[in-house]
Amino acid sequence: MEKKLIERNLKFTDKYTYLGITRGSVMEGQFCTCDNCGKLITNMVEVVRHSDRKHFSIGTDCAETLSKAKTLYNNGTSTDFYNDLYCYNNAARFITELNAGCSITDSNVMYTYCINRKGKKMECYTSALQKWFPEILEPA
Ligand SMILES: [Zn+2]
Repeated sequence: MEKKLIERNLKFTDKYTYLGITRGSVMEGQFCTCDNCGKLITNMVEVVRHSDRKHFSIGTDCAETLSKAKTLYNNGTSTDFYNDLYCYNNAARFITELNAGCSITDSNVMYTYCINRKGKKMECYTSALQKWFPEILEPA
């Protein structure tokens, strides 16, 4: 059964353009509240509302809700919410392994690899690391 979409602050009757995902860090105290539902969020999805050009920072769950309500649009070909979300989640899982003590085994323009805690080779888009976790690729 399909989950009912709950409308909050950002109304489904308006339209929104997806601008990008910004990574927050709870460690650095960079979290804020979702402009849609009011919950604390660490990863901010930036959107702009069409009716008044106002910008909002919302959580990934709320962005998915807007998308399912067919009110969230990509910014032409320059942004793609689901693609970014996939890449972000992939990079976040990769970083989790690195934070647990695994190290990068290889890196090229396309992919960066590590051997994860289960001993399996894991890959991540290098561009995603550069975008959201640049400190990982900088030499210590
Ligand atoms: Zn929310």
